[in-house]
Amino acid sequence: MNPVTFDILRTPEEGGAIRVVKGALLVPDGPIIPYIEGDGIGPEVVLAAQKVVDSAVDAAYGGKRRIVWFKMKAGKEAREDYGKLLPEDVFKAIEHYVVALKGPLTTPIGEGYRSLNVTLRQRLDLYANVRPIFWIPGVPSPLKEPWKVDLTIFREATEDVYAGIEWSHDSQETRKIMNFLSDEFGIRVREGSGLGLKPISEFASKRLVRKALSYAFERGRKSVTLMHKGNIMKFTEGAFMQWGYEVAATEFSDEVVTEREVQEELDGKVPEGKVVLKDRLADNLFQQLLTRTDEYDVIATTNLNGDYISDAAAGLVGGLGVAPGANIGDYNALFEPIHGSAPKYEGLNKVNPTAEILAGAMLLEYIGWDEAANLIRGGVKKAVKAKEVTYDLARRIDGAHTVGTREFSHKVIENLEA
Ligand code: NAP
Repeated sequence: MNPVTFDILRTPEEGGAIRVVKGALLVPDGPIIPYIEGDGIGPEVVLAAQKVVDSAVDAAYGGKRRIVWFKMKAGKEAREDYGKLLPEDVFKAIEHYVVALKGPLTTPIGEGYRSLNVTLRQRLDLYANVRPIFWIPGVPSPLKEPWKVDLTIFREATEDVYAGIEWSHDSQETRKIMNFLSDEFGIRVREGSGLGLKPISEFASKRLVRKALSYAFERGRKSVTLMHKGNIMKFTEGAFMQWGYEVAATEFSDEVVTEREVQEELDGKVPEGKVVLKDRLADNLFQQLLTRTDEYDVIATTNLNGDYISDAAAGLVGGLGVAPGANIGDYNALFEPIHGSAPKYEGLNKVNPTAEILAGAMLLEYIGWDEAANLIRGGVKKAVKAKEVTYDLARRIDGAHTVGTREFSHKVIENLEA
């Protein structure tokens, strides 16, 4: 790989870059991992996560491996050095070092900025937004049987109504498109309507479903569900589903069986080691997650459906403070909590660092350091079980003792090996 030249950043003197060799990550024992602290509560939760990650790596590999953190500036703190919120150095660093950790970034309202997060995903082509949703025993849940929730959601992140192709009701563009629709196709749209386009391509749908199927197969998961609204939007949502089945048939025929095959040809029995591919209408899946929770495992879906279902699913297992996520491309990956920068809590040592800590565990898993990732998940579970938790959980757990961000991360570290 070519050396990287930054505008302001200086390449760390120790550690090495992760490389992609023959389609796999080659990870040195001291990988350089860029990180963005982010805005608001970002610096507090990122620092807490880094400490937990470092302790877990140390505990798992006895000093043989360690992460060399490489600070990048984005958001408010980048403005001073670079005069902009998202400098080129950030894109260069993530592209060069492959994997990065991120805190939440505030998108200033009313200053003409696009969301910084959407920009990062689109510029780096991080097309799969991956959200594991599982219950940590002791975390308050509205479900009677929250232990049945163990989902990983793959949300397509580059297309759909998020592509930003829309025009206001009173624009010239809308007028032109309305005239075109009327003249060419005889379609009348109600006067005074705003218009938006929902592009869904074969390319983007197939690569997203391919990632979800590979993940399910590699991790021994039971099923992948294609979530869509194809009964109403046949050529976008319906096509997403069809392309999903096509990928499975052409590229995963040894690993996957469809639900229909299981029912009609295999007497209801799933062959050992096979992943079942099924599909559900989006509205139905929302209710089935509540009523038949354990029938769902990996979910692959379009951008808007994925946005809704992942926050709803996070709500089943304790909410934003405990929900991590990742933005993954072919190889580049950026790990972050689902929550935002919660500015009212900035600097108070109050918020829950669990989501950022678990994003750190996802990062470790992504680079193949599963032992350290498992220690972190175990440490979080034990810390929560001891009922010494941050305010967001403490207010819903009987007999809990409220601790701060730092103190909670210390509890996780104390429990890494216990
Ligand atoms: P938010 O920052 O996620 O906060 C909303 C509420 O969620 C908080 O008031 C708090 O609820 C709870 N919460 C969030 N993080 C928590 C944590 N770590 N521990 C405990 N509770 C937590 O959402 P927002 O206020 O709508 O957005 C603020 C800014 O963040 C906006 O500029 C938005 O653009 C940005 N944002 C960034 C990202 C990202 O970087 N990926 C994602 C979403 C939003 P209670 O007050 O009820 O306790």
